[in-house]
Amino acid sequence: MSAALTFAVFAVALIAAAVFFLFFYQAWRRERKLKEPFPKTWRRHLKSQVPLYRKLPRHLRQALEQRVQLFIAEKEFYGCDGFEVDEGVKLTIAGHACLLILARSYSDFDDVRSILVYPDAYHVRDIESDGMVVRESNEIRAGEASSRGQVVLAWKECELAAGNLHNSHNVILHEFAHQLDYLDGTADGAPPLSGEQAGHWQHTMTTAYEDLRHSLSHHHKPWLDPYGATEPAEFFAVLTEAFFQQPDHLKHKQPEVYKALQGYYRLDPMNLSDEPARP
Ligand SMILES: [Zn+2]
Repeated sequence: MSAALTFAVFAVALIAAAVFFLFFYQAWRRERKLKEPFPKTWRRHLKSQVPLYRKLPRHLRQALEQRVQLFIAEKEFYGCDGFEVDEGVKLTIAGHACLLILARSYSDFDDVRSILVYPDAYHVRDIESDGMVVRESNEIRAGEASSRGQVVLAWKECELAAGNLHNSHNVILHEFAHQLDYLDGTADGAPPLSGEQAGHWQHTMTTAYEDLRHSLSHHHKPWLDPYGATEPAEFFAVLTEAFFQQPDHLKHKQPEVYKALQGYYRLDPMNLSDEPARP
């Protein structure tokens, strides 16, 4: 073989490898991962720590298990302040987070790279500088999400969410809803949508957000966690918690908001199955 031919063969092989890596490697790797059986111990854990899992029909249980399998294989978990992240911690977080993409594409979480877990609510020291004025604040947080693909969670808050399906708060759903919101580049309370769905979302959510702020300004007891009134991004995250944790309440109070969320999540938590799956 001449040197020119050898070089051409090498170049073609290199290009083919690059094309495979860029366009097919991730799908191939995921397909291979999903061929592994889902461990029985993991299934038992989901049953006890992800209350909604027990209500899912068989095909959605399977969808959740597949997403959990990929999530645990691909995301980096880190324990903070001495917290030990064991398999149960990973499963609880993955099981709740993946409810958001149960009927959506797993790739919606491709940008999420790492999950940091603190044992309890943690202190964050923030320094803001405005010209000559430097402001320092010390906040206590239960969780946060960043546009750089990082989610931070306080484990005690996660345990509260895991223990009760009807608890109005679920920090895992909340922070991962922010991650979906970041998908179009900004956390503005509107995840990526198009066409008619985007128009309906914009109109419905803006009205509901203004109504909530109006109720609070008149000292009325709001239908939703008041934290949702701080900004549209928080409104979406708090609504997501309500959609999965208290769907009947949300649908009764705000049917149009429920409909918009149902369209986005492609799921109706009020009507998951005509034939409930065996427990
Ligand atoms: Zn938030």
